Order: sequence, then C-alpha cells, then structure tokens
Amino acid sequence: MGRRESSETLRNKCAACYRQYNRMEHLVEHMKVNYHSVHEPRCGVCGKHCRSFESLREHLIGPLPKVECARVFSVRGCSICLNIFDSNAAVRYHRAACQYTRAAPMPRGGITGRAVALACKMVGGGSDGSVDLCARVCLIGEDENIIFQTYVKPTAPVTNYRYEVTGVRPEYLRDAMPLKVAQRRIQEILCNGEPLWKLRPRSYGRAKILVGHGLEHDLERLGLEYPAFMIRDTAKYPPLLKTSKLSNSLKYLTQAYLGYDIQTGIQDPYEDCVAAMRLYIRMRSQAHPRDYNSGSGEAQNNYPAWRQRELERMSPEELLALSASDYYCWCLDY
Ligand SMILES: [Zn+2]
Ligand SMILES: [Zn+2]
Ligand SMILES: [Zn+2]
Ligand SMILES: [Zn+2]
Repeated sequence: MGRRESSETLRNKCAACYRQYNRMEHLVEHMKVNYHSVHEPRCGVCGKHCRSFESLREHLIGPLPKVECARVFSVRGCSICLNIFDSNAAVRYHRAACQYTRAAPMPRGGITGRAVALACKMVGGGSDGSVDLCARVCLIGEDENIIFQTYVKPTAPVTNYRYEVTGVRPEYLRDAMPLKVAQRRIQEILCNGEPLWKLRPRSYGRAKILVGHGLEHDLERLGLEYPAFMIRDTAKYPPLLKTSKLSNSLKYLTQAYLGYDIQTGIQDPYEDCVAAMRLYIRMRSQAHPRDYNSGSGEAQNNYPAWRQRELERMSPEELLALSASDYYCWCLDY
C-alpha cells in the first residue's frame, strides 16, 4: 500500500518545478496558474524550473539550498550567470568573460543595434525637495556608445540639488537644454524615422527598443510616451524580480548578475544605462528555444475547463508541453 501511494505521488509531480500533489486535479490546477515554460531560469544540475534568477540562486546557493545541487554548484557553478560547467577549471576560464568591469564612458557614436538604453538623474523640487525633476539624461546604444547626453533645465524651481548623489550644481542647469528640446530629441532617437502611431508589436521597423530600470518614472518625468511593447525594463522583468515579485534595485542586479559595483558616490546616468543594457543583452542572449507561442507574453488558456478529464489523464511532461509563459521573453528580441 505504501508503495502504491509513493508511485502515485510521483505521478503527480510537476515536471517543471517538481512540486508534488496528492491529487492529479491539483497538479492541473497548479499548471493553470504557474505558466511554466522553456523560458524560465533552470537549475543546471537537476533541471528544476524557477520563476526568477533569485529563486534559482536560493536553490543553488541558499539559504537552504537543495543539498545535491549546491554541492555540484560550489565546484562547477558560476555565481554570476548561475550556469554549471564541466569542471572547476572551465568555470574559472568562463568567469573572466562573465564578469563585467565598471564602464568608462565611450565617445559619442552612431546608433548601433536595435535597442537603446535611457537613464535620468533627478534633483528635488517642491517645498520639501521630494518632487523628482529630471536634471540629467543619457541614452546609449548596444555597444555602450553615448547617443545623447545632456543636463536638462528643470521646469520648476529646484529646492534640493541632492548633490551627494547627483553631482548637479546650480550653474550646470542655468543654461541647460530646455526639457521640450530634450524631449523632442529623445523621441527622434527612439522612433528613428518611424511615426509613433504606426508602431505595432513585432512590426516597428527601425524604431528602437527602449531599455532601462524603472522607465515608467523616467518617461513620466521627461514627459515622454512610448508603447509598452517597445519597453524592456529591468525593474519589471519577471526573471529579474525578487521571489516576493518586488523589483530589485539596479545596484543589486549589477552586483549580482554582472559582478561589479555601481552608484557608489555621485551617480552618472551613463553608468545606469550601461548596467541596464548589459542586463538586457544578457537576458536576451539566454539559450531558449525561440518558438513564438511560448514566451510571447500572451497568456493563453492552454488548459480549458472542458478538457479537465483529458488533462487529468496526461503525464506531467505532457502538461508542461502545453504550458506557455505569461511574460514576453527577451530572447525573442534576438
Ligand atoms: Zn510547477
Ligand atoms: Zn526565452
Ligand atoms: Zn537543482
Ligand atoms: Zn557565468
């Protein structure tokens, strides 16, 4: 009897995250709400799918890691990209390429690649200095060259220059570029000759994919609009979120997933652009099967209620094959 129970439990084990269910209907229910897919971060030892790199990190490093996977990882795993290699020597060789170093600003250049990254630095307005006003903005291309960089003249009186963080002094803003001019220039770079109203998902011609961290706030402060399907935000991308589904800071993501420090002392928007672009390129380069249906972000009802009985007779692997992620995977940009 005990034996039969254990084999039944085994049958109801999710083929992606390995959670086990006493009843098959509960596994079907689990699959309906979890949107497992080939685009999820996976453990290189046991193959387990994780919702985010943070949960994969916990699985491999801890606290409370899976003991067997942690043992292999400690010898042959890279703590930056979380991949497993053939030998300890192979990891050490790999790390030199995996770990970035702090970027020195590149000269201005033309726009290379399909994506541009944008970052701002805000000074304070309002009676208590808590209202963010854009004072600096920077845009870079995929090869980290500066496309556009300027101080911006705030549209309201500055009550706190936040000098220790922004490095902005009153004289830098006195004759700075008016916000309207910066706005127009950025819009031109993003649209790159395509009319904004014409952009459609997967059909946006020469227009640029916009990369950044917390872009909603930046765009709002700049008074810019850009379609959501053109935006790749490292503060919103599910694989880069905390296990609590809250955003990680750009500083943390850069430390954990690129291997260097940013935002120490006075902050340069160029440095934020580079970090966001590197994270984007790293995510985009994930080796996922790029079939369109899985990872398109169009959460489909792949488990219709009328097929409930049929679904309950399927194997966990067959259920997983039906599943598709509920977010647009950046590997599809490649
Ligand atoms: Zn699962
Ligand atoms: Zn993917
Ligand atoms: Zn594992
Ligand atoms: Zn690595």
